[in-house]
Amino acid sequence: MKRIVNFSAGPATLPFEVLQQVQAELLDWQGCGMSVMEMSHRDKEFMSIAQAAEADLREVAGIQANYKVLFMQGGATGQFSFIPMNLLRGKQGIDFVLTGDWGKKAAKEAARYAKVNVAASSETDKFANVPARASWKLDPGAAYVHITSNETIHGVEFAADPDTGAVPLVADMSSNILSRPFDVSKYGLIYAGAQKNIGPSGVTIVIVRDDLIGQAAANTPGIFDYKQMADNESMLNTPPCFAWYVSGLVFKWIKDNGGLKGVGERNAAKAALLYDYIDSQDFYRNPVAKADRSRMNVPFTLANPELDAEFLKGAKAAELSGLKGHRSVGGMRASLYNAMTLEGVRQLVDYMKEFARIRA
Ligand code: PMP
Repeated sequence: MKRIVNFSAGPATLPFEVLQQVQAELLDWQGCGMSVMEMSHRDKEFMSIAQAAEADLREVAGIQANYKVLFMQGGATGQFSFIPMNLLRGKQGIDFVLTGDWGKKAAKEAARYAKVNVAASSETDKFANVPARASWKLDPGAAYVHITSNETIHGVEFAADPDTGAVPLVADMSSNILSRPFDVSKYGLIYAGAQKNIGPSGVTIVIVRDDLIGQAAANTPGIFDYKQMADNESMLNTPPCFAWYVSGLVFKWIKDNGGLKGVGERNAAKAALLYDYIDSQDFYRNPVAKADRSRMNVPFTLANPELDAEFLKGAKAAELSGLKGHRSVGGMRASLYNAMTLEGVRQLVDYMKEFARIRA
């Protein structure tokens, strides 16, 4: 068996121990004689898997009782497309703080239903920072404020949970959820596609405060209505059972590995290793303001872009994969999600040093 070091931005590397457990249980889940893929979602076996996953997520993330946890489909794109239907609650406008392309995409979808106010944006700085909180021009009458807590393409991350007072804060946490301790109570709604820090693609996690649901626009399809989903424990229709199950194993893995505090410390060490090297020389460069750099996605460019293809070819030969930057920005990107090991980052830095030594 071969396991390469996988820096993909998503779907992404999963904890090896979790994959081993999935393998061990694949044909016969805990003596029930079938795979999780083959179970009815209404059977007691799957119900126990589903409930344990939610309980473990609540424990790991410190989610209070006045929040619903939903396991939905449609990805983060589905969520940012139908959050406005659910959360406008008769209001007219939504505030957006834009720090990259995912926030822009979310704003574009929201504009179908509401007046979008760009309260702050770092687009003129090529999304290389998070606009200072004091500069945000928030509308006190907005239905909610939307942020992307980590912009996967640009490698820009909110260093802390921002405060938006009485206006609910909605965050796309697809690429940094569960990567460090965070304060759920600061948010009205958090959503995240699973395929980076949680599990396989196909399941999308939504954490939403009770008082914000139950007021969806009249034409909201039932399957996109958080209240209906919550009332049916995310089983209004057939849920993504297998992805839900693997996500549950990842929540347990986090619990067994020091919780979010432990995960956060390891993620900080991994990111520091790579950024410290990038900042120590001139061959590679990361454009993001230091305070706003993502610990999850580290984009970097080579001094001479003509060497990109050779860099990637050599990386592949060294069994380092998924390093090509997003097609919209080019260059390289190393994604360092929870399941990436410090040793994996060390191997990347060693390769970068050697490539620079030969090519600089
Ligand atoms: N938001 C962010 C921050 C993302 O990184 C991504 C996926 N790369 C998306 C949204 C879109 O997610 P999905 O493919 O699950 O719709």
